[in-house]
Amino acid sequence: MKLANLKDATDTASFAEALKRGLGKNQGLYFPTQIPALHNIEEVLAMPFVERSIHILSALLGDEMEQELTDIVQHAFTFAAPVVEVNEKISVLELFHGPTLAFKDFGGRFMAQCLARLTNDDPVTILTATSGDTGAAVAHAFHGIDNINVVILFPKGKISPLQEKLFTTLGGNIHTVAVEGDFDACQTLVKTAFDDPEVREGLHLNSANSINISRLLAQVCYYFEALSQIPQHQREALVVAVPSGNFGNLTAGMIAKAMGLPIKRFIAATNLNDTVPRYLKTGQWEPKPTQATMSNAMDVSQPNNWPRIEALFEKGYVDKSALRGESVDEDYTQIAVRQLAQQGYTSEPHAAVAYRALSHDLGEGETGLFLATAHPAKFRETVENVLGQPISLPQALANVASKDSLAESLPNDYQLLKQHMIALLKS
Ligand SMILES: *Cc1c(COP(=O)(O)O)cnc(C)c1O
Repeated sequence: MKLANLKDATDTASFAEALKRGLGKNQGLYFPTQIPALHNIEEVLAMPFVERSIHILSALLGDEMEQELTDIVQHAFTFAAPVVEVNEKISVLELFHGPTLAFKDFGGRFMAQCLARLTNDDPVTILTATSGDTGAAVAHAFHGIDNINVVILFPKGKISPLQEKLFTTLGGNIHTVAVEGDFDACQTLVKTAFDDPEVREGLHLNSANSINISRLLAQVCYYFEALSQIPQHQREALVVAVPSGNFGNLTAGMIAKAMGLPIKRFIAATNLNDTVPRYLKTGQWEPKPTQATMSNAMDVSQPNNWPRIEALFEKGYVDKSALRGESVDEDYTQIAVRQLAQQGYTSEPHAAVAYRALSHDLGEGETGLFLATAHPAKFRETVENVLGQPISLPQALANVASKDSLAESLPNDYQLLKQHMIALLKS
């Protein structure tokens, strides 16, 4: 697989290089120089999930990771992505059946399995800051993998106790630090560490963040899985609504379309942070200050995957008319959670934003699919408030609730963090 930096086409990389580097020069994103078209889509859709995913990924990866791919996918994709019917016209793709109950498990686990097979000599340290979801997905994805240590910083007392326990109770190669500061302070500590050669090179830092190309490739697979579960006569006019923050999920869907998956069009569904819907209407890229909403994993006003979607348009892989944007405010998000409940489907704010955008935009003769990116229990308080009734905890959350957090507490001080990491990892 060959990739090029979207900011500097002379900066090229193989998949393995792009995976390890994360970002290219000038913070540019890596993007495939060519997206392969799959033939015999019906046959591809008829395959079982794991086998089909290997087929798709091997088309993308070309001659890279050929030997290891089967093993990687078998270890990464260990849970289902079922399509559930909500009403006659609309279904939902549930992406929250992984260990941390959010769709980030797909990308995180695939990345971890790839990295594990590319780091034979020096142990790698994944250093990341989290305000909740990403940390849990990264921690579970890398837990127990030889030669990779994970250090996760989070703002002490500022994430829900249940969310915290999802990643602080694992132990082993997963080290968690509760920083006496906010999320921005955690991010600044991470940046400082990456700028410190002694730590960056000494501990072989890698960020495992959401722009990593490996995550996108993994996410392409579940769009095929969705279509395989939709009756053939409905596939022709299928509209897919994606709840979007950094737009990695939507980018993956559009890559699937570029590979030949018959999706008619997409809806980029955002909360009040509507930079993309406004841009699609006016052609002006004008990010505003980020607003806090109920669907907080999408509180992003400068979505960092957007240049990849532009590249899909510019290179002619996807027509611009195949994407519309829609911003959903807080009132309509609540209304959507209730409307879904009335149809017998318990949901949470992120999926509800997509449902609202879809039901608002769906035309005559079209069939709709929206993506559910998190289990409702991950946003339990919000959902219970909106619905006025309790919802049940799935087993994965119930299990960790009774365990003790293993996180270390540290002040917001880079030197102390550095000492802590070196003592922990250099031994
Ligand atoms: C990360 C996340 C999103 C946004 O996905 P992007 O790929 O960043 O657009 C949506 N919903 C949930 C629950 C998330 O955790």
